[in-house]
Amino acid sequence: MLTADEIIQKKKQYFYPNTMHFYSNPPHLVRGEGKYLFDDKGKSYLDFFAGVTVVNCGHCNPEITERVSEQVKRLQHTSIIYLTEPMVELAERLAGILPGDIHQVFFCNSGSEANDGALQLARMKTGKKGFLSFKGGLHGRTTLTLAVTGIPMWRIDPFLDDESVWFAEGYSNADESLKSVEDILERHGNEIAACIAEPVQGNGGINIPPPDFFIRLKRLLEKHNVLLIFDEIQTGFGRLGYMFASEYFNVVPDIISFAKALGNGTPMGAFAARPDTAAALNRPSSSTLGGNPVSMTAGLAVLDFIEKNDLCAKSKELGAYFLEQLRILEKDHKDIIAGVRGLGLMAGVSMKNPAHVDVILEKMKDNGIIIGKNGMNREVLAFQPPLIIDKNDINLVCSELRGILSSLK
Ligand code: PMP
Repeated sequence: MLTADEIIQKKKQYFYPNTMHFYSNPPHLVRGEGKYLFDDKGKSYLDFFAGVTVVNCGHCNPEITERVSEQVKRLQHTSIIYLTEPMVELAERLAGILPGDIHQVFFCNSGSEANDGALQLARMKTGKKGFLSFKGGLHGRTTLTLAVTGIPMWRIDPFLDDESVWFAEGYSNADESLKSVEDILERHGNEIAACIAEPVQGNGGINIPPPDFFIRLKRLLEKHNVLLIFDEIQTGFGRLGYMFASEYFNVVPDIISFAKALGNGTPMGAFAARPDTAAALNRPSSSTLGGNPVSMTAGLAVLDFIEKNDLCAKSKELGAYFLEQLRILEKDHKDIIAGVRGLGLMAGVSMKNPAHVDVILEKMKDNGIIIGKNGMNREVLAFQPPLIIDKNDINLVCSELRGILSSLK
């Protein structure tokens, strides 16, 4: 088996130079089981990042893996131009849980592709080209989704400003943010097809707007015939304590995109809309692997597992406990912690000194806990564990964190 160093060497030699990895001394991960990851030396890690919010049901969940394996053995691929059952079964299940009358779906393979499709649909529906987005939002890696991404470090294509995109202020001050939306709409509403928003910004630093934010936003958008796209790629499927963020924010967007957790590790992406909006997608379009029986079976197994184990309620309850514990840590370490926030099992701790983030990540990993980092200046510790954790896991993470924070003084 390759050592971690040998993997790094091969990455350097054969990958593009922009592929990064966490940690100065990263482990070689070889196995996952539930909330744990294991390295080549047999060391276990409690995973509090879930592969960037993907394995909500835990690594290699046997109830999902069994069904996926059966499907792989029976029929792996036909392409969506042929009839198979899992794709329509999953579409029907989604129609039953998506908010409002959002009943029609297009399956693809990733979050970027889902958002790209959602943006395209908005253009076709409204006949307008431009987009409104928020500073701090991240929406993908295609040209269009990069163009609406409001985090400078990810905007690597030098020509993104050629797209007609206007950025509103981020969520930290809701009134200011909505005022900037209003100003943009006054000037450019007739050029803007849709506003795309993460209900809670993940990559931007776990930024949570107030509960009435999207109701107010939707009202502004409707005046100018601008659609609302919810990018639920991080927030969907129990992460916030609800199947979708729409429930918490009490708003039904025009289009919802989702990916990550619905596949629990299989390639997944989709955007869904009401039939009257979906009707605008009336020219031929097809995704070779979108809707493939393996990912669709995974999606069905994920929904079964979430419902059977009441993971939304669990995420809500554990998230509230976790936030309480983080607030205690904040109080005790005011000198280094700038703020904490969380909704369901999506929590962030921002550090006054961004340099502390990597130090904490490395020490947590050495102590057997994996957490994430994000934020406009990579100044935020991110916690998005599988939804199958329990209180003891939260206590362990908080006590390790406490020890490390104390050692930083
Ligand atoms: N939207 C959000 C909110 C995301 O967090 C991500 C990925 N981190 C994407 C879109 C892009 O998804 P993917 O990497 O599957 O293309």
